[in-house]
Amino acid sequence: MTEHTITVAGVAVDTRHWIGGERVASPATFTDVSPIDGSVLGEISRGTATEAEAAVAAAKAAFPGWAATPRAERARLLHAVADGVEKRIEELAIVETHDNGALLRSHRRGVMPRVAHNFRFFADWLLKLEHEDFETRGHTNHVSWDPAGPSVLITPWNAPLMLATWKIAPALAAGNTVVLKPAEWTPLTASLLADIAAEAGLPAGVFNVVQGYGSEIGDALTSHPDVRRISFTGSVPTAKRISQSAAAQLTPLSLELGGKSPLLVFADADLDLAVDLAVEQYDNAGQVCLAATRFLVEETVAEEFTRRFTEKAGRLVQGDPRDEATDIGPNIHPRQLEKIDGFVQRALAAGARAVIGGHRGEGQYYAPTLLTDVAQDSEIVQEEVFGPVLTLQTFADEDEAVRLANDTRFGLAATLATGDPARAERVTARLVAGTVWVNCFFVRDLQAPFGGSRHSGVGREGGTWSFDFYCDVKNTVTAPKGWQDHG
Ligand code: NAD
Repeated sequence: MTEHTITVAGVAVDTRHWIGGERVASPATFTDVSPIDGSVLGEISRGTATEAEAAVAAAKAAFPGWAATPRAERARLLHAVADGVEKRIEELAIVETHDNGALLRSHRRGVMPRVAHNFRFFADWLLKLEHEDFETRGHTNHVSWDPAGPSVLITPWNAPLMLATWKIAPALAAGNTVVLKPAEWTPLTASLLADIAAEAGLPAGVFNVVQGYGSEIGDALTSHPDVRRISFTGSVPTAKRISQSAAAQLTPLSLELGGKSPLLVFADADLDLAVDLAVEQYDNAGQVCLAATRFLVEETVAEEFTRRFTEKAGRLVQGDPRDEATDIGPNIHPRQLEKIDGFVQRALAAGARAVIGGHRGEGQYYAPTLLTDVAQDSEIVQEEVFGPVLTLQTFADEDEAVRLANDTRFGLAATLATGDPARAERVTARLVAGTVWVNCFFVRDLQAPFGGSRHSGVGREGGTWSFDFYCDVKNTVTAPKGWQDHG
């Protein structure tokens, strides 16, 4: 314990950066506040260009050694990190819940085991990464994945450690070194991960963490000439800013951004299943990029769907996220709450009707809301709210359903409820979305491509797609023995 250590629910967390295998303090700090009750969790080192420079230098220095580390050894170390995460699931879960307000039971049983799985999956995938050789006029083509170099990973607050490790694991597996910049509202579990990585034996400088405001430390990271990859998850305005900054060095970018995804409910659907899928959209207090926030329901079943939805949503328990019985916790920050309520009040003023909710709850909670009588071109239908706010519109036929579904600037995901497999296939083919779920939601395999179209993102990560992004892909063409023809 040092003067830089804070204790969160009994867990010691170092508030300094992690650079080159050492804790580094900044002269300035920012305050980290819990959304559960507004209590101050601690003062966190607030990085600037100086810390960004040091972290990239550490990642650069460690890169040749890590890139040359045999794949099997890299995989072993990533499994050791996963072991460390599994040993500390309870600590990680409780700290994350205090920091971002998401449910403790989900962190314990879903999210943190998944964090460990992120490391295990990419460690194992690395070992089977292979492309079948092919021939060109007797010459052999061999495809390989070379480590690219230091990678900057910038992540949001809605699922802090989950989204960070979804990038860290493949980047490290690929042989790259990493500088992680977690969101300033939720920096704590990244610091715990630095401890875990060090205990697992990851060499100094292979994994670095710098904290701070994006506006103060971001440009120094994203315009740095020694950075070879940038992977960002967050909002569209920040993505544009980062793209401009990265353009200085033409640094390859992966962008995972927001969404306004539809849930299409056809009259032939199992309506109870459709309602289950619909109510799930309040998970994480609506702070989920993939959330199907726009219900598009076939006219003939809209009334019955709404009745059953209202009944089921009415049984959701909103409250302290540490309580096992809670279904919906607080929203992350007073500023975010302000933003959510702004969207809702403007929609109501424009003629929307609140089927449920439509107002703030106690403290930092927002009442689960469903708005109807909303126009397709209205702000509430077109813009991402990132809170427990959903809209409902109806459609007459498949053509109208597809038209409404595709009519936003986003294209992250879409969910379909239908009892007709032929319809599912027809509609899916016409949807603009990186992921389509048919009669299910949020089922995600790490080997599947993940990402969005249009303003929901650039590129895909997952399985081999992650290695395609984090590596320099090389094709080696070898002439057959005795080959003389240069043509
Ligand atoms: P944000 O864009 O405000 O911040 C994300 C990160 O970017 C933070 O770490 C922030 O400090 C950093 N940042 C801010 N300005 C920067 C700059 N100029 N340079 C470099 N970094 C900078 O987003 P947020 O509010 O934290 O997250 C919510 C958004 O993330 C929503 O739009 C949500 O849909 C999206 N999201 C997308 C996915 C996905 O996988 N597609 C997953 C989760 C969240």
